[in-house]
Amino acid sequence: MSKKYILLDRDGTIIHDRHYLHDPDGVELLPGAVEGLKRMVEMGFGLAVLTNQSGVGRGYYDEASVHACNARMAELLLPHGIVLDGVFHCPHTPEDKCRCRKPEPGLMEQAVESLGFKPGEAFMVGDKEADMGVGRNTGATTILVRTGKGAAHEERCRESADYVTDDLCGAAAIIWSLFSESKQAVKS
Ligand SMILES: [Mg+2]
Ligand SMILES: [Zn+2]
Repeated sequence: MSKKYILLDRDGTIIHDRHYLHDPDGVELLPGAVEGLKRMVEMGFGLAVLTNQSGVGRGYYDEASVHACNARMAELLLPHGIVLDGVFHCPHTPEDKCRCRKPEPGLMEQAVESLGFKPGEAFMVGDKEADMGVGRNTGATTILVRTGKGAAHEERCRESADYVTDDLCGAAAIIWSLFSESKQAVKS
């Protein structure tokens, strides 16, 4: 059995959504992030991040800034035993019409290619409609968190979000309950 994965949005889901974040000093974990991600790791899931970074395409910051912010996030998570297996980003603007800007499936495909998991068995967690969209477009189970833009996006994600919860802690609890249900189903 191959490892199952939880794909996570970055800004507004794991760390505070600062407008076009490019300074690693601005990276700050959201409430519930450490506890939720830790629980996901303890359940045996691999973790990877799918993030739209159109600030690169718009010329607001460069790829090195994206990597610096990702590295800072990893540095904040590591002391808690949380390791991200991959961070995949789209540097394009909507006008580029690329295949990797969420809700397009490209970033999920890159993650599948690199990590080798079945997207239909994966979870996609994020705070925006585009996050729910990439999950939907690839067969993943979608969870909207109300951190970041999540509360504002809740109404328009009525169709695309399978579950809605306050933060990553809540997301972990949902995944746990589904996980224990399916174990139950296998037994009976
Ligand atoms: Mg976000
Ligand atoms: Zn792209």
